[in-house]
Amino acid sequence: MPGRVFLVGAGPGDPGLLTLRGKACLEQADLVLYDGLVNPLLLRHSHAKAQRTCRVGGPGERHLDQSEINRELIAAAKSGLTVVRLKGGDPFIFGRGSEEAAALAAEGIPFEVVPGITAATGAAVYAGISLTHRDHASAVAFITGHEDPTKPESAIDYEALARFPGTLVFYMGLHRLPQIAERLIAAGKPPSTPAAVVNRATTPRQRTVTATLSDLPDAVAAAKLSPPSLVIIGECVSVRGQAQWFEDRPLFGQVIGITRPEEQADSAIDRAVALGALPVVIPTIAIGPAPDLVAVDAVLDRLDQFEWLIFTSVNGVRGLLTRLWERGGDVRRLAHTKLAAIGPSTAAALVEFSLRCDVVPDEYRAEALAERLAPLVKDQRVLWARADRGRDVLPQCLAAAGAQLEQIVVYTNRDVAALPATELAMLERGEVDWIGLSSPSIARNLSTLLSPVARQQLGVRTRLCAISPVTAAAAEEAGLPIAVTAKDYTWNGMFAAMINSR
Ligand code: SAH
Repeated sequence: MPGRVFLVGAGPGDPGLLTLRGKACLEQADLVLYDGLVNPLLLRHSHAKAQRTCRVGGPGERHLDQSEINRELIAAAKSGLTVVRLKGGDPFIFGRGSEEAAALAAEGIPFEVVPGITAATGAAVYAGISLTHRDHASAVAFITGHEDPTKPESAIDYEALARFPGTLVFYMGLHRLPQIAERLIAAGKPPSTPAAVVNRATTPRQRTVTATLSDLPDAVAAAKLSPPSLVIIGECVSVRGQAQWFEDRPLFGQVIGITRPEEQADSAIDRAVALGALPVVIPTIAIGPAPDLVAVDAVLDRLDQFEWLIFTSVNGVRGLLTRLWERGGDVRRLAHTKLAAIGPSTAAALVEFSLRCDVVPDEYRAEALAERLAPLVKDQRVLWARADRGRDVLPQCLAAAGAQLEQIVVYTNRDVAALPATELAMLERGEVDWIGLSSPSIARNLSTLLSPVARQQLGVRTRLCAISPVTAAAAEEAGLPIAVTAKDYTWNGMFAAMINSR
C-alpha cells in the first residue's frame, strides 16, 4: 500500500477550531509532523508518533529547513505511512503548504489538503472584531508583514494598501510594526485609523492591544507583546466592544493542572478550554487492565447470580462491561440485576452501555452510597467491580447491612513514576494557577512527585482545589495546602470552586 499525506490546517490555537475532516485525518495517521504554531492538545486525536518540525521564537518564527520537511514527508509516505502534516491556521495562507503539496505532487505521492481557520478570522472573532463589519469595511486584505517595508524591492505596494477600502490584516508583522505603520501613514492612511494587535489569539493567553495606527507601535511595545501576533488595521476595530466574548470567560487565562489519568482527562480538558483556561495534564496515577482476567471471566460466567452490581468509577464500569462484551455477552445478562453508581460520571459510563442506574447517592462518596444501599441489600448478593486499591468503606458498611458482597478487581490503579518534564518545569516556574485533585490517591501521589521547587509554589503562585472533603483531608495529611474544596464532588464542581474564588 502506498502511503499518503494529509496537509491539515490546525486552526489558530483553540483546539476546538479543527475541522471534522482534520480530526478524521489525525485519527488515521501513522505519523504526525506538526509545526510550532500548532496546539499540542490536538495530538490527542491521534495515536501516531508525533514530531515537531519547527519552533516559535525570536523576532519572527524560525522554521526548520523547508526542503528537509518536504524530504521527510516524501520518505514517510513512500515507506507506506499515512502522514498528517499539521500546520497552524490554514495550510495555504502564508504557510508554505502549497510548496509542500507541489513537492508531493512532483513525487507522485497522493495527498489531500484540509483547510483550517486562519489566524486572521480566528483572532478577529476571538477579539470581538468583525473584519467586514458592514458599516466599516467592504473588503479585507491579508498581507505578510515579514518583508522590510523600507526596502525598495518590497513586493508590497503601501500606496495601494493605504487606499484599500477595507480592513488590513498583517501576518508576521509584529517586529516590523513601526515601519509598517510609518509607511502606511506616509502613503496617506489616516494616523487616527483604529488598529489592534492580537497576540496568541484564540488561546487562554490571548491579549489584545488597541490604539490608533500612529500610537499602536508604542502601545504594543509597552504591553511587551511577542509573536505570534496579528495586526488588524481598520475602522472595524472601533466597534470591538460590542462583540467581545472570549476574554470575558470565567477562567480566562488561568493555567489549570489536570491530575486525572491521561486516558480520562479529556472531559476535564474540554471543560477547562471552554471556560477559557489553559489545561496542563499532570497525571499522577495510571490506569491498567485487570491483573487477573481469569477471575473476571469466572465472575462474568455467574453474573446472573447477583442481585446488585455496584460501580464506584468509570473504569470499573468499562473494565467489567467491556470484558462482558469481548466474551460475547451483552447487557441482557443484566436483565434482572439492579445497578448502583457512586456519582453522575460513573452513571454516565453505564449509559454508554445502554444501562440506567437504579441508585446514585446525592453526595458522591462511598459513605453516601453505602447509606442509600443499606436498606436495599439485606441478604442480597452484591458484586462490586473495583480497582486493585481503594478505600474499604463499602465492604464494611454493606457487610454491616447484611449483604453478601463479592469484589472483583477489573482494573489497576498505579502511581506514575514521575511528572512529565515540561509540565513539572511550568509548576516550578510558578506558571500554574490551579491544580485540581480528584481523589485521595492522586493527592498523595502528587505530594511525592512534586520537586522541592514546585512545592514552594503551592499556596504562593499555585493553588490546590480538592474535589471533596475526603480528598482535601488526604491532601492536607500529605502536606498539600488546599485552597478550596468543591461543593459538588465532580470536576465541574472543582471548576465552579475555582471560579468562585477568583
Ligand atoms: N498558516 C497560518 C499563518 C502562518 S504565518 C494561518 O493561516 O494562520 C504565521 C503568522 O500567523 C504569525 O506570525 C502570526 O502573525 C499569525 N498567527 C498564527 N497564529 C496566530 C495566533 N494564534 N495569534 C495571532 N497571530 C497568529
